[in-house]
This record gives sequence, C-alpha cells and structure tokens, in this order.
Amino acid sequence: MTFILGLTGGIGSGKSAASQWFESQGIQVVDADIVAREVVEKGQPALEQIQQTFGNWVIQEDGELNRRALREYIFKDPSARKQLEAITHPAIRTAIIQQLASATSPYAVLVSPLLFETSQHELTHHNLLIDATEELQIERASSRDGQNAEQIKKIIAAQMPRLQKQALAQDIILNDGHIDHLHNQLRKLHLQYLARSEA
Ligand code: ADP
Repeated sequence: MTFILGLTGGIGSGKSAASQWFESQGIQVVDADIVAREVVEKGQPALEQIQQTFGNWVIQEDGELNRRALREYIFKDPSARKQLEAITHPAIRTAIIQQLASATSPYAVLVSPLLFETSQHELTHHNLLIDATEELQIERASSRDGQNAEQIKKIIAAQMPRLQKQALAQDIILNDGHIDHLHNQLRKLHLQYLARSEA
C-alpha cells in the first residue's frame, strides 16, 4: 500500500509552495481543492444531485454550476450548506481515494486546507503541517490574491486554529524564512518519507 502523506496549513502558510516542491521530486500530489471542483463539473453525478436538490437556477446556460449563485444561497442558509456538503463531501472523498490509489510514485501527498476539519486525515498515514504566523499568512496571502488584510483575517478566523492543527500533525515546518529554507526542511522529511514508503 502506498504511503500517503497529508499536507495542510492555513491560508498563505505555504501549502502550494510545499506541494510544488514534492511534485518537483516526482511525488504525486492530489489537491483536495482541485478534486472539489472536478466533482461538480458538467456531467458529474454530484452536479445532477445539486440540481435536483436546489433547482435549475444552480445551472448556468452552458451547463456548468453557477458557483457564485450557490455560494450566495448557502451563505444565507446554513441548512442549505449542510445539504450541499452531504452531496459534495462523499463525492470528494471517493474521488480522492481513487486518485491516491492510482498514484505510482514512491509515496503520494494529499494536500488540503481542510485536512483535519473534514476528516480527510483519515485517508492519510502521516500529516505535515506548514505553519506560519498570522502576520506572515496575511502578508503572503494578500500579496498573492490582492485581498485586503481584513478579508484574510476572516478566512483565518474560520479555519481551525494553529494550535489545534499543530497538535494533530506529526511533522510541522515553520515556514518563516526564505523559500530555500522551506525546501531544505522538506528535503529532510522527504528522505524520511521515502524510507517509510519502502518499509
Ligand atoms: P497556501 O497554499 O498555503 O495558501 P502558498 O503556498 O500559495 O500558500 O503561499 C502564499 C504566497 O506566499 C505565495 O505567493 C508563495 O509563493 C509565497 N511564499 C510561500 N512560502 C514563502 C517563503 N518561505 N518565502 C517567501 N514567499 C513565500
């Protein structure tokens, strides 16, 4: 069985930077955010279920999901959010399991901002947290996305607190230096993961 590493971290912590490094080493990465979009693509069973549950207004003329309309709808109605998640979460989980199972690299990575929040860590053998101070998270995420500090702070407040994530992860990298420093720390762990994957 392939060794599966869970990779997580709050917004702007450096998860994507870490994922890219793993990919550069030939390690296959399954990105939960990408899977979440794939399962509601045109023709997918989850999209049909969403249409049946919420109505035809959730589908655009081109047959794609009207994400914006649905986002606004569930924002106002928490029970609608639950209904939506009851459709999407199992579909996402199934697709993640399939993609991880087809990985051919020595080990595989599941990167997810909500690894612990959505119990996706049940699918992994070991978890790595990319950690950063809130100050750095705000600085990096706002320069990447062009969002203001207040918007980033709201997203951070909605995510699991750093302390809780630190308690759940077996490995933690504090990404508070140069990108080379992140890569050096990843390299050390990568050697351990390779050894584990051979065991
Ligand atoms: P996440 O995926 O966790 O939201 P990213 O990996 O996209 O975070 O990192 C947020 C931004 O900060 C990106 O523009 C990324 O290139 C940059 N970044 C990440 N780590 C570092 C670092 N150690 N030094 C400088 N910039 C970094």
